[in-house]
Amino acid sequence: MTRRRASLSLGILACLLVGTVTHAAEKVRVLVIDGQNNHTWAPMTAIMKKALTDSGRFDVSVATTPPKGSKGEEWDAFAPQFDRYDVVVSNYNGERWPERVEKQLEAYLKKGGGLVNVHAANNAFEPWDEFNKMIGLGWRKNSFGDRITLDNEGKVVRTPKGEGLGAGHGPQHAYKVTIQKPDHPITRGIPRVWVHSKDELYQGQRGPAENMEVLATAFASPDYKGSGTNEPIAWVIPYGRGRVFTTVLGHTMNEETVAARCVGFLTLLTRGTEWAATGKVTLPVPANFPTETEESVIPESKAATPSS
Ligand code: ZN
Repeated sequence: MTRRRASLSLGILACLLVGTVTHAAEKVRVLVIDGQNNHTWAPMTAIMKKALTDSGRFDVSVATTPPKGSKGEEWDAFAPQFDRYDVVVSNYNGERWPERVEKQLEAYLKKGGGLVNVHAANNAFEPWDEFNKMIGLGWRKNSFGDRITLDNEGKVVRTPKGEGLGAGHGPQHAYKVTIQKPDHPITRGIPRVWVHSKDELYQGQRGPAENMEVLATAFASPDYKGSGTNEPIAWVIPYGRGRVFTTVLGHTMNEETVAARCVGFLTLLTRGTEWAATGKVTLPVPANFPTETEESVIPESKAATPSS
């Protein structure tokens, strides 16, 4: 080998080494999708984007769909490049996407991509079979599919379709969340029981519910028109080689942002997003995480506004 070739080889080797080091420090690339929702999606996206960015772990981009009632050519401009991201966060509850986009999301997940669904995201796309497999449970009538609850020993109870409650929620209130899978990367180190700030408590969610691992539940108290059972509020599902994390927490409507500013919600969101992207969680549980008796909410002044 000539000296020149040797130094060239060393140069390539150095590049490879530097490349490896850079890769280890690379941020997780997140694509948030919003644009239609029965909630105020802009402040919701802003709060989530800030929390994800402030964690230092993510680079966050946002893809916004055309508004409801848009024509086909307006939808042509909605072309999210899923493959450029490690994980997609859905803050979307609206019209069907163009078929090409839905097929691209399916292919992206089958190849190992990640998907996170927040709050009303699981209300969307009822006729989209593959999406129903991804979310496991959605805001659907009881005739749509099975229901999953957990008994007081943490055992999964499956109620067949047509029996029992369909999707709903009672009046908003603060409620206790119980971690059912303390050994999962997303929930490891989180207090077993903690108070989630005032939010809707989704109950009677329905779907194929295949391969679901319920990470956390909340007791839907009859005092708040609840089902009287432990309802899933955060769960994971494999889809192809990909991973899906869904949480029904995080209701946001105009100035009602306290649920999305709950440190418990934001911790599940950021850790769930990291897990869906990588299969691992490095983000710590913050010191100001809510306790069994105390809520913990980021003040409005420290949460994001839609313009930020
Ligand atoms: Zn809501």
